[in-house]
Amino acid sequence: MYIFRKTADLERYLKRQKENGLKSAFVPTMGALHEGHFSLLAIAQEESDFSIVSIFVNPTQFDDKKDLEKYPRKDEEDIRALVTRGCDVLYLPSPEEVYPPDSHIKSDFDLGGLDRPMEGAHRPGHFNGVVQVVNRLLEIVQPSSIIMGQKDYQQAAIIRRLLEVTESETELVVAPIIREEDGLAMSSRNVRLSESERKVAPKIQETLQWVKAQKGKKPLELVLKEAVAKINEGNQLRVDYLEMANAQSLEVVKNWEDSEALVLCTAVHLGPVRLIDNVLI
Ligand code: AMP
Repeated sequence: MYIFRKTADLERYLKRQKENGLKSAFVPTMGALHEGHFSLLAIAQEESDFSIVSIFVNPTQFDDKKDLEKYPRKDEEDIRALVTRGCDVLYLPSPEEVYPPDSHIKSDFDLGGLDRPMEGAHRPGHFNGVVQVVNRLLEIVQPSSIIMGQKDYQQAAIIRRLLEVTESETELVVAPIIREEDGLAMSSRNVRLSESERKVAPKIQETLQWVKAQKGKKPLELVLKEAVAKINEGNQLRVDYLEMANAQSLEVVKNWEDSEALVLCTAVHLGPVRLIDNVLI
């Protein structure tokens, strides 16, 4: 596996690959890799002639400084795991390599309102940082495809929109959520949970499934209210939001009938972390 820490070196390498007619698939991550990330890598390997993973904890997308400081970093372990799994290229830049001093990296794209509800409403500036870094990474890597997880449903929808408004030739592939055996969505942040927090964490996914099963039985608003109470019960989990949205526009809906394709999204505080999850309905 080639490891590039300097953007100019990666760009030189990619130029040669392109000249040789080779197609790349790109998996942007923030590291502390787990099976969710590796499933994206496996798709990248199927989709292309060579796979590129980036590990970059992007400071501009953190609305909470403490979360940024405490974000798990495991570069050595990640490198070993990527080699084992046959990744071709790792881009492991410093912030200065992604955002060169004195450069203006664009972050103001027309996201058609997709960035307003849910994570957008609860983490001010977060999606600005996300589109800024993904746009910059795409400018550097120029992959044939980019692989992202449904775990971050709103983020994937926003990147689809970014590719449209920038008339990018990169194709977006959205990969299913990989879960622990007890249903908890895998996340780099899960390692920060204590034993007792880890025990109650599956309640999030269980409750999303319960909501899904109530379709056609009870009014949506009532079901959501009960679901919030179910998650909050026991005082360890604390719902930040639990909302049903149109799966395409991400507009929040109040009735089951408001859209044919729905996505139920939630963010829940648990101890030192905030976990997100979603389910398509
Ligand atoms: P992150 O390192 O958390 O920024 O995630 C990098 C990519 O991995 C994003 O596209 C995420 O949606 C995806 N991802 C994170 N967790 C999972 C998971 N449990 N299953 C599938 N994809 C995931």
